[in-house]
Amino acid sequence: MAKIVDTIRTYCPKCNKHTLQKVKLYKKGKQSPFSVGQARYDRKLTGYVGKVKGKKSVRKIGKHQKIILECPTCKKKQERIIGTRTKKVLEVVKKGALLSKEEKKASTRSTT
Ligand SMILES: [Zn+2]
Repeated sequence: MAKIVDTIRTYCPKCNKHTLQKVKLYKKGKQSPFSVGQARYDRKLTGYVGKVKGKKSVRKIGKHQKIILECPTCKKKQERIIGTRTKKVLEVVKKGALLSKEEKKASTRSTT
């Protein structure tokens, strides 16, 4: 299980500057049966157009983990891919949870 902080300070293309953006996990929407690509694929599977698509010969291991960043000022959403293909699933955690033990000690020292 890979972890990621729930807020990231990063560039927003609409505001043209860095802002503190919310992090959300990307969820794939339901595929429309009427989209152009799906219609073309269905037609190909009927067998009128040359070779019919068969089973995949290459199996890819894992998936790219995608997150969605949302800018609080202009509400623009942008996608970002974290790392490479992996079986690990991303998890959004609060900022304090990602700190290591030494960093936590340092932060408590500074507050007291
Ligand atoms: Zn923005």
